[in-house]
Amino acid sequence: MDKQIPYAKQSISNDDIEAVVNVLKSDTLTQGELLKIFEQKVNNKVSSKYAIATNSATSALHLACLAIGVGEKDIVWTSPISFVASSNCALYCRAEIDFVDIDPSTALISISALEVKLEKAEKDGKLPKVLIPVHLAGTSCDMKEISRLSNKFGFRIIEDASHAIGGSYLNNPIGSCKYSDICIFSFHPVKIITTLEGGMAVTNNEEIFHKISLLRGHGITRDENEFIFNSPGPWYYEQQELGFNYRFNEVQASLGITQLKKLDKLVTKRNELMKNYRNFAKDIYNLEFLEETKGAYSAYHLAIIKLKDSTKDRHLSLFKYMRAHGVFVQIHYWPIHLQPYYCNLSFKKGDFPNAENYAISSFSLPIFPDLKDSEQLKVMKELKNGIDLIFNPN
Ligand SMILES: *Cc1c(COP(=O)(O)O)cnc(C)c1O
Repeated sequence: MDKQIPYAKQSISNDDIEAVVNVLKSDTLTQGELLKIFEQKVNNKVSSKYAIATNSATSALHLACLAIGVGEKDIVWTSPISFVASSNCALYCRAEIDFVDIDPSTALISISALEVKLEKAEKDGKLPKVLIPVHLAGTSCDMKEISRLSNKFGFRIIEDASHAIGGSYLNNPIGSCKYSDICIFSFHPVKIITTLEGGMAVTNNEEIFHKISLLRGHGITRDENEFIFNSPGPWYYEQQELGFNYRFNEVQASLGITQLKKLDKLVTKRNELMKNYRNFAKDIYNLEFLEETKGAYSAYHLAIIKLKDSTKDRHLSLFKYMRAHGVFVQIHYWPIHLQPYYCNLSFKKGDFPNAENYAISSFSLPIFPDLKDSEQLKVMKELKNGIDLIFNPN
């Protein structure tokens, strides 16, 4: 079979390769200076004060929850339309997880559903400690409204911006944390920029920064000024918390530095590709794309279509048609609460109807900066053929 066009793919060029090779030829492969340089460059880019790079965004989400003090008796809410890491991080902390249904027009957390759920939770004495809004596809949630509700109901905010570095909201870069406590990026190869595996937490809160830094490296500090006990000698370091090895190595950092230089260009290209798709969709009656939040500039990690008049069968047929015709479409995401692990926690079908309906009327088309014009044309041609065949059979 011909190679399929993937839904996402990294963009690696010679400067990236050279940077990585240089690190491999050097003396320091981990815990070196490039880590700090990369963190500082991300701070400058996204207008945050503090940055902590980790071996994955999943690790960063875990540490973010811990830094806010999420524990056994706490409740965390997120969106059911996300990668499982957005909710697993709460479970790692033994917290209780719950979801807020999406707004069908954006597939982002619904502000009205959130408000209704918060009012009920307040009456029941079950308010969440943390909300994790997910900037699906790279488009910011309505953070101003979420922040208003956070002030009213007293929850903290961790943005899962795994898809969204390079985007902005109300002219602030995603990551500025203007409306949140912590913001998380992923540098997995399918995301906007890559460090092989990798992630990052950014914050403007010094205390959160120290806590995440400590937990990233086993809970160990080597800074004498921070020691709890008197130092018995120059060999001494101190473990003060039960931390992890979630470190980010120098190869990752060097790649991050070269990739970050290209961030704006990569995101511009993604927006151009998205524009092509939107223009194409104008002529197809049942094809739509997700709406953007007011004031958001999306990084467009994903190009998610929405099908009018969709049914479970038609959606599945079109999905299979695309894959059979060389286009590796994918659903982002099958609702988290329908995963068997989550059903064992007592979630069930029917709990979040908008999310469930989304999953049988949407999927992602290929979008990545190296997508060729001829490939994008092929995607559009196959999509039109598939829709004609399945939705307009006469
Ligand atoms: C990719 C992703 C993650 C996890 O990122 P890793 O770096 O692979 O751990 C978390 N949340 C969302 C929404 C993601 O897409």
